[in-house]
Amino acid sequence: MADCLFCRIRDGEIPAAITHRDDDVLAFKDVNPRAPFHQLVIPARHIASLADAQPADAEILGKLMLTGARLAREAGFAQPGFRVVMNAGPDAGQTVFHVHLHVLAGRTLSWPPG
Ligand code: 5GP
Ligand code: ZN
Repeated sequence: MADCLFCRIRDGEIPAAITHRDDDVLAFKDVNPRAPFHQLVIPARHIASLADAQPADAEILGKLMLTGARLAREAGFAQPGFRVVMNAGPDAGQTVFHVHLHVLAGRTLSWPPG
């Protein structure tokens, strides 16, 4: 998707602090962090929203979770903990329509979210 912000980050057209890249998944620091640790994990392949996900996307969605958990673990947040969040659609606060898993840690996170 030529006009997709995260496809452009994937393609190196927009700079980002990339923390992991493989054939399927890219992770980078959120430009506007909401916690001391805030990274985004995205599928390399464009999927607009979790609302559009199909059974064939099960493996990549699982890989997003495992990558996010590994990044949090490697940064020392297995204990005391971390949160993964995926906003789907405008009411949930999704602003970039390329699936991304937020990984947040480094402070006490309130519940329920706003
Ligand atoms: P959403 O609101 O769609 O769940 O999350 C989008 C996230 O992307 C936000 O947390 C926002 O700070 C982040 N973001 C938006 N534009 C950029 C950018 O150009 N670079 C990076 N690294 N993050 C971005
Ligand atoms: Zn995209």
